[in-house]
Amino acid sequence: MNQETIDAFMNRRMLHICEVCGRTEVLTPQEAYDAGWDYPPFMGSFGIVSPRTCPDCMMMDTVWAAITLKRIKPDELSQQQKQTIKRIIREPESILVEEEE
Ligand SMILES: [Zn+2]
Repeated sequence: MNQETIDAFMNRRMLHICEVCGRTEVLTPQEAYDAGWDYPPFMGSFGIVSPRTCPDCMMMDTVWAAITLKRIKPDELSQQQKQTIKRIIREPESILVEEEE
């Protein structure tokens, strides 16, 4: 995703989902970053598996850590972890919130 595309999403509200504790908040990327979320496009990239956490949770508990650090095989991931991956690879469309007119 190039910079122009990223800029187009900067003022869009998105569903931020902590993959560790399940907390959800509708925020713009800037609001999420200021609040301490680890979320693209500031942390990592849309569509690429990296930690997606709220301000209270640890990246060690993410699906990213399970795969890259703990070396858990794809078929040994939990249903929730598999769903997280599916959502991540469909970003940003999978988390965009429709704007009201
Ligand atoms: Zn959390």
